[in-house]
Amino acid sequence: MNLSSAVHRKIFYIISISSEKIKQNSYVIGGYVRDILMGRMKSNDLDILTIGEVTKLAKEVSKYIIPYPKIRIFKRFGTVMLEYENQKIEFVGSRKESYHYSSRNPIIELGSLQEDQNRRDFTINALAISLNLDNYGELIDPFRGLSDLKKKILRTPLDANLTYSDDPLRMMRAIRFATQLQFDIEQSSFQSIQKNKNRINIVSIERIVDEFNKILLSEKPSIGLLLLYKSGLLSIILPELVLLKGIEEKNGYKHKDNFYHTLQVVDNISQEKTNSLWLRWVALLHDIGKTYTKKFFPKIGWAFHAHELVGSKMVSNIFQRLKLPKGSSIKYVKKLIKHSYRPITLIEKKTSDSAIRRLLFDMGKDLEDLMKLCIADITTNNIDKKNQYKKNIYLLIERIKKLEERDRIQNWKSPISGNDIMEAFHIDPCKKIGIIKNFVKDSILEGKISNNFHSAYFLMLKKGEELGLKKK
Ligand code: ATP
Ligand code: MG
Repeated sequence: MNLSSAVHRKIFYIISISSEKIKQNSYVIGGYVRDILMGRMKSNDLDILTIGEVTKLAKEVSKYIIPYPKIRIFKRFGTVMLEYENQKIEFVGSRKESYHYSSRNPIIELGSLQEDQNRRDFTINALAISLNLDNYGELIDPFRGLSDLKKKILRTPLDANLTYSDDPLRMMRAIRFATQLQFDIEQSSFQSIQKNKNRINIVSIERIVDEFNKILLSEKPSIGLLLLYKSGLLSIILPELVLLKGIEEKNGYKHKDNFYHTLQVVDNISQEKTNSLWLRWVALLHDIGKTYTKKFFPKIGWAFHAHELVGSKMVSNIFQRLKLPKGSSIKYVKKLIKHSYRPITLIEKKTSDSAIRRLLFDMGKDLEDLMKLCIADITTNNIDKKNQYKKNIYLLIERIKKLEERDRIQNWKSPISGNDIMEAFHIDPCKKIGIIKNFVKDSILEGKISNNFHSAYFLMLKKGEELGLKKK
């Protein structure tokens, strides 16, 4: 078997002679083997399984690598990490696990290679390649993992019910791999996920969200979102999304299914060549306010007035519950959802320049992402309508660009500062400074004066005098 790149081959050779010297058997195992067999060499992370003493092997290997890499020992996990030319080599001892029903934490004992492969989550992740001199390069595949790779199927090595119940994070991992690799989860395995879904509650939210984010960052996140929904896991993790499901009809008026619409928007934004996790979160949550704003108007139909404001307010709770980061990312998500409907209201030709300048000012550097969201939000199946809607947005983008070139509003900073005002009128900080600053800002955005120091200074003096201030 061809063991990948030259650098990797060198590492494997070093491991094999080191293992031989200290009389241990070693294997490369897990995701790395799966990925080379799939021709998906994406990671430089190597997992090396050894039947024997982990630290002893790592120390022996490190002797042959120049410059000598640092050895990091993780006692709690019984693993040792070596870092070498962008490579991370993790050494782990073979182990067997047994679980207690109420806990995620297994009782770990030393085990054989086969026992270690038994505890792996999927047959395609249980593949090992021997690094022992007598059968170097041999694939050790006790569960027909290679055949599952070819069939694009995710199957657990042992009983699926037990595998998911022992460590319920594996349910998230199943759906994550199904999304990333575009594999099917074996039917009976998926039924076990449905059965065990409530066990996810014993897993820490950070680990759940870690997998969820990997789903969201995949090429086609809707695969995973749909599986999460069908398994019942989505109702536990993100019920706000599930509530969007369904179509109601009244007097011949129907609204769209906002759940499937959202999935489409997330896929669309992912195809927009954005790898931004937070923009994908925006797409995922952009319509969650619709559940609480839905209203029927006779003769008009369904409306969701102010859903973007309601949705934006819901973000804090969700982020807190999921322990997503506070700070700039949540601010960004809230801001984009809050303004998500604004560009649509500006599409008409008669829209004033000042309304567009306000959008530029309010969105700043996030305007480009907002426009990406607007394009992704077009999910109609009617080709004519789709083209027309897209054209409208592109025309608006053109208009925004031209205005920005002329007026430079996007990174706008007031040409006059609070200090300028205090100095001009020889006053201490007070309310009037804010009033004058806002007045100058509004006059610039409304196009009443030009965006430069001279005009702003002149207007400031005028406004100050109106407020009873005297120039120094
Ligand atoms: P990735 O490309 O995301 O790194 P991976 O398969 O390498 O995929 P890791 O989380 O790095 O995933 O785990 C390495 C290996 O450890 C897996 O291939 C699998 O064999 C095993 N493993 C990881 N998590 C679990 C788990 N919860 N249950 C059983 N086996 C697991
Ligand atoms: Mg890995």
